[in-house]
Formats: sequence, C-alpha cells, structure tokens
Amino acid sequence: MDDVVRIKPFRSEPAQKPTREEAEAAVRTLIAWAGDDPEREGLVDTPRRVVKAYQEFYSGYGENPNTELARVFTEAEGYADMVLVRDIPFFSHCEHHMAPFSGKAHVGYFPRDGVVGLSKLARIVDMFSRRLQTQEALTAQIAGAIEDGLRSRGVAVMIEAEHSCMSMRGVKKHGASTVTTQFTGVFRDPNERQRFLTLVSGAK
Ligand SMILES: [Zn+2]
Repeated sequence: MDDVVRIKPFRSEPAQKPTREEAEAAVRTLIAWAGDDPEREGLVDTPRRVVKAYQEFYSGYGENPNTELARVFTEAEGYADMVLVRDIPFFSHCEHHMAPFSGKAHVGYFPRDGVVGLSKLARIVDMFSRRLQTQEALTAQIAGAIEDGLRSRGVAVMIEAEHSCMSMRGVKKHGASTVTTQFTGVFRDPNERQRFLTLVSGAK
C-alpha cells in the first residue's frame, strides 16, 4: 500500500483563521445566495456588521474556564451545602444551522475547598454558549468545567432553552422548550438531585 498517495487529513492542523476580508466576502456570498443584492445601499455595510457580531457571538473560543475559576474564596470555608445560581440568561447558536437558541441555565455545586465568586459561574455559561453548540454538549461542558476547575463534590446543571431552528424552520414549533440536565458527584444521589430541582423551580 506504499504507493497510495496519502492525502493530508483536512483536520490534521488547526485551520488557518480566515482574514476579516475573507469573512466579509463570505457574508456577501450568502446574501447573494439568499437572493438579494449585497451591493445595494441597505446591505453594503452588512458584511462588516455581521463579522463584528460574530466576534461577540463566538467570543467563547479561546477562553479558558480555569482562568475564571482560579480564584477560590476560602473564607467561606465551613460552608459545605449546595450553592445554586439559577436563571442565568444565555444565548448560543446551534451547530447544525447556526441558528440562535437561548434560555436560562441553572448551576449548582457542592464546595470542597472554598467557593468562587457567583459571577464566575455565569461567565462559564457565557464562555461555552458563545460557541457553536448543541444544548446537550453545552450542558455537559459547563458541568465538566466547574467540576474540574473547582474540584467540587458535585455539580448540577440544568438548561431550559428555545431553539429558533425548531421555531422558525423545520417543524416550526414555536414555544417548545428543551430541557437538559447533567449531574455529577453528590448530585447522583436522588435526594440531592431532587433538592436541586426543587430549588430551581422555587423561583417561579
Ligand atoms: Zn439547529
């Protein structure tokens, strides 16, 4: 088989990041594909705006959860019960259609060595939601990052979201929400899991 020409796998190296000009040209192509004229007055600056918006939508790439979770407040030592931050709003984009989905994340954990600033949990949610995602992967990634970063005794993550790729296209079911959960450590105990779910629903 030595004479087989080996084609370098497409993903063998990190892809070269396109330039801003290349990204804007791609947006112009999509506008034309949609059936409009990318040169008309109302659209001429749209590629520039879309690329700028992408920088915000996808700012989670390259961010490291461990940076956010590095500072643990040990003065809260002695507090050993669940910490729950509920109703963290987020927006993301589905990796299948690049269509937005948004909703609320509820994040709970059991401290081991101390607690983190509560805003850090929201930052973790942002970091992973500002990437191309599935709701399932997003849920697991948030739980995994908090479990690794905090070495907590258990993490619970619940996400409720509405997907525009379901409400605007395909089956067109407006108002349907998708719920995903991930439980680690102590939360595998059905009693702790139930406490988490009760505390989350207590907000409503
Ligand atoms: Zn989708």
